Amino acid sequence: MLRFAPSPTGDIHIWDLRVAIVNYLVAQQRNEPFLIRIEDGDKERNIEGKDTEIMQILEKFAIKHESVFHQSEHLHMHQTLAIRLLEEGKAFVCTCTEEELEAEREDAKKNNTAYRYSGRCHDVDKAEHAKLKESGTPFVIRIKKPEHDIVSHDLIQGDIVSTPAEVDSFVILRADGTPSYNFACACDDMISGVNFIIRGEAHLSDTPRQKHIKTQLAYDDETKYAHLPSLLNAEGKKMSESDDASTVQWMFEEGFIPDAILNYLLLLGNSHAPQEVFTLPEAIEWFKLENISTSPAQFDIEKLRFINRAHLKRIDDKRLSTLFGFADADIGKMAKLYLEEASTIKELEAKVRPIFSPKDFEDQWSKEMKLMRDIIADLPMINTFEEFESTMMKESGLNGEHFVKPLRLLLTGTEQGPELRDLYTYIKPYLLEVAS
Ligand code: GLU
Ligand code: ZN
Repeated sequence: MLRFAPSPTGDIHIWDLRVAIVNYLVAQQRNEPFLIRIEDGDKERNIEGKDTEIMQILEKFAIKHESVFHQSEHLHMHQTLAIRLLEEGKAFVCTCTEEELEAEREDAKKNNTAYRYSGRCHDVDKAEHAKLKESGTPFVIRIKKPEHDIVSHDLIQGDIVSTPAEVDSFVILRADGTPSYNFACACDDMISGVNFIIRGEAHLSDTPRQKHIKTQLAYDDETKYAHLPSLLNAEGKKMSESDDASTVQWMFEEGFIPDAILNYLLLLGNSHAPQEVFTLPEAIEWFKLENISTSPAQFDIEKLRFINRAHLKRIDDKRLSTLFGFADADIGKMAKLYLEEASTIKELEAKVRPIFSPKDFEDQWSKEMKLMRDIIADLPMINTFEEFESTMMKESGLNGEHFVKPLRLLLTGTEQGPELRDLYTYIKPYLLEVAS
């Protein structure tokens, strides 16, 4: 079982999407189910509607899931499991106040040492729990730190050893009775039978903690882990929310299509790909987590543009035309003529739209354009461009640039573009509309 566990706290970023895609791909390769868990544990940061938005984005990428649930639905189970650890002496109640903890953190900072929980409440009797609850004294539940090193084997990063001090006695249930991220995550993975976790490198330090939780809950943790390295922006800095190009929404607005984005995200950091342009079913054949480089991959918009163009060339003609409000394979074919100079849907649209928009009859060639428009209005449908061209020449009496330039402006709205001969094949059924 694999899973994607987004937090509904903001826009979905390309590194999140990359995690979703890789998880889905590996689930397909292993023929295992894939679930979505919306991690809505941080009530203050949750944004209404983001969960639906995430699901809609996944749908655009044809990422299919077995089931979907919100983490908060498991609150009762998380609480029960925390109490179980408490009763088994594997966790303890901690009544250290935020001020005390803050002072300890300050001390650590001053001494230039990593902050560790003092262990002050470590031996508080578990009977204390009932008393605290009764008296309404705030407390948290902390899991006791492990006794031995924890070794996390990561398919990309290799073996990582964490000492008991690094894992520390950390909070599993907060004062308001809600679970901490690590606890909710570990419990849910356990409950759902997730045995393969792929996520971003930012969660690398969470892994020993989550392994520790699962071990203490007597779960036989045979989970495989893979943490994907972070992405760098064009300046070589770690990509973050402040990078424009970082949200999936931005990519759609720029006119990148899902097949290309998916292709690009699977190619990032992967020097073993047999080719640069591929589909998901093709990648399923060769993709290996072990081949992902441990160093961060640089996000390269030019490469994405190249891949997008390649996928636009392959896209079904009629489907392409629907992106500009048509349902005509010929319009799709015509748009593809512009793929030498355009790489995104947005750029293609900027080329195709003027063809079907009212033309400017007030510029340098207005006289010639009006003349040709009137000729076209009375013309029967002509099949070949050669015949169309010679008829137009004869009827208008124009030639040279006095013929070519206004004709192009009349048919395309711009001075440059693919050969009129090639365009004509596809626009001839729309000639009256085009030449107006
Ligand atoms: N909810 C976490 C996030 O959005 C992911 C947790 C995980 O994959 O374990 O970063
Ligand atoms: Zn304490």
